[in-house]
Amino acid sequence: LSFESLGLDQRLLQAISRQQYVTPTLVQAKAIPLAFEGKDILARAKTGSGKTAAYAIPIIEAIIRAKYNKPNERAIQAIILVPTRELAEQCLKVVNKLTVFCGKLVQGVNIAQNIPDQVQRSLLSECPDIVIGTPYRVLQHIKSSTLPVKSVRHIVVDEADLIMSYGYQEDLENIQKQLPPAVQVFLMSATLTPEVDVIKGLFCRNPAILTL
Ligand code: AMP
Repeated sequence: LSFESLGLDQRLLQAISRQQYVTPTLVQAKAIPLAFEGKDILARAKTGSGKTAAYAIPIIEAIIRAKYNKPNERAIQAIILVPTRELAEQCLKVVNKLTVFCGKLVQGVNIAQNIPDQVQRSLLSECPDIVIGTPYRVLQHIKSSTLPVKSVRHIVVDEADLIMSYGYQEDLENIQKQLPPAVQVFLMSATLTPEVDVIKGLFCRNPAILTL
């Protein structure tokens, strides 16, 4: 399987080749086609497996496609939940690299950074397409209506095992309750623990399970 055979937008393919990704990693080869079928995905994937691009590529592609007919419409379409600030930074880097040829068409922001609330709000007020943050921060912004979820179509819970071990279960439950019913879910976890099973039950009905 090659990236070219996945039917990706040229701008995304160009960015992938600039990153010198030659072929999809295992988790990417499995997850990307399933994601295009609209499936929810639960993947056992560690750091180093290419897991970030495994969800970022199909999400960015979906956003590009959604904008074919309305390039100027801005709305938050994806939320990526991570356990720590460091992971949020890494994740935004991957998103930025993959969208480097998209200009302003696809924009990601990281609200997990150590910045004042005011600055977080101003980042969100520009209606980025992709919001990356920890469950607590994301929930606070949903509650205060600074992160409108009506247009969200994809949610990622990355490092789901760590997220649970950090005690974010209640925040996840409250975020889930606010999401539109048809969101596509990506759960990425290094280990498939009973706690991860709890998130699975919370977010998805019948995910494709990739144990790789
Ligand atoms: P991750 O598992 O998301 O933390 O990614 C680990 C590293 O793999 C990152 O430095 C990525 O840039 C790199 N990577 C992701 N996908 C590929 C690919 N298809 N080919 C080569 N490197 C990749």
